[in-house]
Amino acid sequence: MAKSKYEYVKTFEQTTTLLPNTYIVVRVDGRGFHKFCTKHDFEKPNDRAALDLMNAAAVAVMKELPDISFAYGISDEFSFIFERSSRLFDRRESKIATTVVSTFTAYYLHLWSTFVPSKPLTPPLPSFDGRVVLYPSTQTIRDYMSWRQVDCHINNLYNTTFWALVQRGGMDVTKAEEKLKGTLAADKNEILFSQFGINYNKEPEMYRKGSIIFYDYHQEVPDPAALAVSKNSEVEISKTQKEKERKRRSKAEIVVQHTDITKDDFWEQRPWLLC
Ligand code: ATP
Ligand code: ATP
Ligand code: MG
Ligand code: MG
Ligand code: MG
Ligand code: MG
Ligand code: MG
Repeated sequence: MAKSKYEYVKTFEQTTTLLPNTYIVVRVDGRGFHKFCTKHDFEKPNDRAALDLMNAAAVAVMKELPDISFAYGISDEFSFIFERSSRLFDRRESKIATTVVSTFTAYYLHLWSTFVPSKPLTPPLPSFDGRVVLYPSTQTIRDYMSWRQVDCHINNLYNTTFWALVQRGGMDVTKAEEKLKGTLAADKNEILFSQFGINYNKEPEMYRKGSIIFYDYHQEVPDPAALAVSKNSEVEISKTQKEKERKRRSKAEIVVQHTDITKDDFWEQRPWLLC
C-alpha cells in the first residue's frame, strides 16, 4: 500500500519494551470501588459474590492469555504474573497492560449478572486501572506475592474487627475507628474473641488469604526439558516446545485456592509456577 504524507506521525509513537527474562506483573485495581461497593450494597467486610466474580474474571483472563502462569487476588485487585520467557506483544508494556485490563474489565461486566443477579449494573460502570512491574528473580517475585498476601491479612483482620464493632457492637464508624487506632493484631483478635466470640483463624480462608489461581499439573507433570529450557534466558525456546507447553496448559485445570503463599511449601510443591 502506498504511504500517505501523514504517515510520518507514526514516528512520534513511543514504546517501552519490558526487560527480557523478568517476571512481568500486571496488577489491576477497581476504580473507586469504595463508592461502587456502597452503590451495589456489597456485604461488609467481605461480599462473597463480588470476590467470586473477581476470581471468575481472572480465570477468563488466564484462559485468553496463556503466558500468564498464575494470578493473585484480594479485594478489588488482581495481580497477573507472566512467565519470564513470555514474548507476548514483543513485551511491549502498554499493549500488555491495556490488554490485561480491558480483558479483565470485559469479563467482569459480562459475568456480573451471573454472580450478582439481583443488582443490575447501571452507569457509572465499574472500571479498572492497571500497572506493570518487573521482578528479576524468584526471590523478588515471591516477596511481591508475600507482600500482597500480608496486606490481605492486615486489611482483613482490621475490616473484620471494624465491622464486628459496627454491625454487632452497635458502634458508629468514628467510634470504631477510634477504638482500633494503634491496636496490634493480638488486640484485634482479642476484641473479636472476647466481645463477639469470633475466632479469627476460623474465618473463611478466602477472606484471610486471598485467592491464588494457577494451572494445576497434578496429573499432568510438565515436561522437565521444557522447564529447563525456559529457565535459561540465553536459549531460544523453539516454537514446537512452546506449542507443547501451551497444549499441556490448555489441558491442565485452572484452580482457585486460598493458601499460604508466603511459605516455601506452596512454591516447592509447584516448581512450574516460577519457571
Ligand atoms: P482507587 O480508585 O484509588 O483504587 P478505591 O475506592 O477502589 O479507590 P481501594 O484502595 O482499591 O480504593 O479499595 C477498594 C475498596 O473496595 C475497599 O474499601 C474494599 O473494602 C472494598 N471492596 C472491594 N471488594 C470488596 C468485596 N468483595 N466486599 C466488600 N468490600 C470490598
Ligand atoms: P492487533 O491485535 O495487532 O490490533 P488486529 O487483527 O486487531 O490485530 P488491526 O490492524 O487492529 O488488526 O485491524 C483491525 C481489523 O479489523 C482490520 O482488518 C479491519 O478492517 C477490521 N475491522 C475493524 N472494524 C471493522 C468494522 N467496523 N467493519 C469491518 N471490519 C472492521
Ligand atoms: Mg488505590
Ligand atoms: Mg480500587
Ligand atoms: Mg484496591
Ligand atoms: Mg486491532
Ligand atoms: Mg486497529
